[in-house]
Amino acid sequence: MSVFSHDAFDGHEQVVFCRDAESGLKAIIAIHNTSRGTSLGGCRMWPYANEEEALTDVLRLSRGMTYKSALADLPFGGGKSVIIGNPQTEKTPALFHAMGRFVESLSGRYVVAEDVGISVPDVETMSKETRHVAGITAGGSGDPSPATAFGVFEGIKAAVAFKLGAPDLKGIRVAVQGLGHVGWELCRLLHEAGAQLIVADLNRQQTQRAVEWFDAQVSAPDAIIREAVSVYAPCALGATINDASIGELRCAIVAGSANNQLAEERHGALLRDRGILYAPDYVINAGGVINISHEKRLTGDKPYVKATAFAHVARIGNTLTEIFEIAERKGISSAQAADSLAEQRFKRAGHRKAA
Ligand code: NAD
Repeated sequence: MSVFSHDAFDGHEQVVFCRDAESGLKAIIAIHNTSRGTSLGGCRMWPYANEEEALTDVLRLSRGMTYKSALADLPFGGGKSVIIGNPQTEKTPALFHAMGRFVESLSGRYVVAEDVGISVPDVETMSKETRHVAGITAGGSGDPSPATAFGVFEGIKAAVAFKLGAPDLKGIRVAVQGLGHVGWELCRLLHEAGAQLIVADLNRQQTQRAVEWFDAQVSAPDAIIREAVSVYAPCALGATINDASIGELRCAIVAGSANNQLAEERHGALLRDRGILYAPDYVINAGGVINISHEKRLTGDKPYVKATAFAHVARIGNTLTEIFEIAERKGISSAQAADSLAEQRFKRAGHRKAA
């Protein structure tokens, strides 16, 4: 297994392989870029089939955090960690103590938070060994989902204004796929703003609640992507924009919280060719990490103030408008425009640091 020549290596500053015999921990911490500040990113626990798969995942995820933080105007770089193991059956306190010690050994170059397979109590166990943690309940900002939903809501407003010239969301039809932590809160905000909702979830009780609470129309999980709407908001799974689905979309805008919405990078250009405006996922779904960045343990001294954090989240709308304008001016996809704007920001910060 190569590391420096790995396809996803992309100039990572540091990759740490962690092994603790006593607890059985096998983990990788990847630090992509710290030119804007210490690296911040969640820890994922997943039963990877092999080490190669775990390495690929952590490298891609940590690179993604560099771009996300740069476009969210955060004073952080990109990092991520993965624990190889089944989160349903292999979690022990010893495992998370060992992980915390490895995070501590990096002396603050990496700050860990939760991600898929890792919950707040797991990070709290790590915090017994290191103070370089974020997103825990004690002294923290709590569940990031409402902030994520608010950021997506602001992003949808910006996309609707740009693409449709509409001043607000009154009467705008939005298809929300997934009514979980983010999707439900997003529906609440959209409903309040006068949007018409079409929803889908595997959980029928949840869709029924949406009918009662938000006057939503229900679609089938495999049909929602084909609904004729202004906005398709994927808030469940990734990779819903793929070769099979792209020709079937009947929306003007794709804007939702799901990570990795494009199955492959080239699907960003295909959306553009179809005249569909895409709000790049890592830009529109950054509300959670923006909210966490306002925690006292990350600001250094200032206590968390929800209004300040949410005002920062609301700036996602302006960032997206800037990205849409760049894409239009340069004749490139919004996904490419987002990447190049992020690169300018973290490379410029790197030059400042080096000077
Ligand atoms: P969640 O697990 O709370 O909710 C997901 C919902 O999607 C569930 O209700 C589930 O039943 C439903 N679902 C699953 N498969 C579906 C399908 N095929 N069709 C329709 N519905 C389906 O997750 P969440 O925290 O709400 O996150 C949603 C998405 O946003 C995920 O992709 C997540 O990675 C991403 N995201 C979340 C946050 C956050 O703050 N929670 C931040 C950034 C990105």
